[in-house]
Amino acid sequence: MRYISTNGRSPAGSLKEVVMRGLAPDGGLYMPERISPMPDAFFRQMYDMDLQETAFSVASHLLGEDIPTSDLKKMVYDTLDFPVPLVQIHHRLSTLELFHGPTMAFKDIGARFMARLLGYFNRHEQQEVNVLVATSGDTGSAVANGFYKVPGIRVVVLYPEGMVTPLQEKQFTTLGENITAVEVKGTFDDCQRMVKQAFSDEELNRLVKLTSANSINWARLMPQSFYYFWGVAQLGKKTDNITCAVPSGNFGNLCSGLIAKKMHLPIKRFIAATNINDIVPKYIENGHYQPKPSVATVANAMDVGNPSNFARILELYGHSREAICADIEGYVCTDEEIRTTIGEVYERQQYLLDPHGAVGYKALQDHLYKHPENTGFFIETAHPAKFRETVEPAIRQKIPLPANLSRFAGGIKQTEKLSTNFDIFKNFLIRSCV
Ligand SMILES: *Cc1c(COP(=O)(O)O)cnc(C)c1O
Repeated sequence: MRYISTNGRSPAGSLKEVVMRGLAPDGGLYMPERISPMPDAFFRQMYDMDLQETAFSVASHLLGEDIPTSDLKKMVYDTLDFPVPLVQIHHRLSTLELFHGPTMAFKDIGARFMARLLGYFNRHEQQEVNVLVATSGDTGSAVANGFYKVPGIRVVVLYPEGMVTPLQEKQFTTLGENITAVEVKGTFDDCQRMVKQAFSDEELNRLVKLTSANSINWARLMPQSFYYFWGVAQLGKKTDNITCAVPSGNFGNLCSGLIAKKMHLPIKRFIAATNINDIVPKYIENGHYQPKPSVATVANAMDVGNPSNFARILELYGHSREAICADIEGYVCTDEEIRTTIGEVYERQQYLLDPHGAVGYKALQDHLYKHPENTGFFIETAHPAKFRETVEPAIRQKIPLPANLSRFAGGIKQTEKLSTNFDIFKNFLIRSCV
């Protein structure tokens, strides 16, 4: 398979090039040149497969030409060695819990798969690869833990000072070894801009080998399509008119769902559910795509003012807003609504949402109310205990910290503090990577 850049000015790349580079040289995002439907036989068997079998079928379909079957199978099975249950909350409304991995957020899946794929492609190389990642919280921990102690790979995590929760911060600033955390005096958007600029800086790229583990990297995005198949399979063969609500920030997760739909997965409609950083819902509403500085919310992993994967969504739909609106509707949730939803769902359904999942829940609930013929699931992207500061006051109760989170609590934070100045960051990379 060849991969093309959404900016259309770089030559097509191989899977290896795409994974090693992250961003295309013209600044665009890579997309496979075609996404063909899964075979009919797969859809007949899908409802009887387990998570790993389902994921492996999808992975083989997309990557089978480029990676030997046995290597690919091991990558998929190792990545998904934890459950991804679909939990019914009430009639017609379920949630796909993607938070049972090592850092308890859905990003574990993309990050773990990418680490294995990158390790595979770099296994005979002499030079170390530096994985750069900007994080508003969860990406940093998922990537740092996914790549921790992987030989030949170093990870540099950039995050906005004071804007991630103390627990999130501990998950990627206390590891040491091949993981370096950079605390930036700025916003998440500043971090993302610094990372993007690093990839387009020719001098820097001559000196150090850089790649991205943000969802601009196809290797992180692609494996996320696996669980949409698994979600639909768990709803069962007899369920149709399926709507899926995706709490979104950089829109990698939603994009993966749309890719699954492109492979003919029977999801009728998607909801792009955001907090008040509503760039994409606004675009769906009025056709204007207007990036803005991000605003801090209680669903901080979705505080994104210029979602990088929107370019891929445009590409998937041939830049037709009409086609986009036929498949996707927007939904926006305020912090107040997030808090109330967490409280109400806990009280009435005894289900504990995290602030991001709450956005998905509310979006889906409103949709199902208007469309009684539909059945839906939303993606629960993080364990509620990761956001205790918001969840505990919302339900007026303390919640226990799962072992996967408490194991980081005692670690000592080690960071490099930098301003948003690119040249200083560049020199830091050169100094510490060469
Ligand atoms: C990253 C993240 C999101 C947003 O996912 P995107 O793929 O960036 O849209 C939502 N919820 C949580 C908990 C996250 O960590």
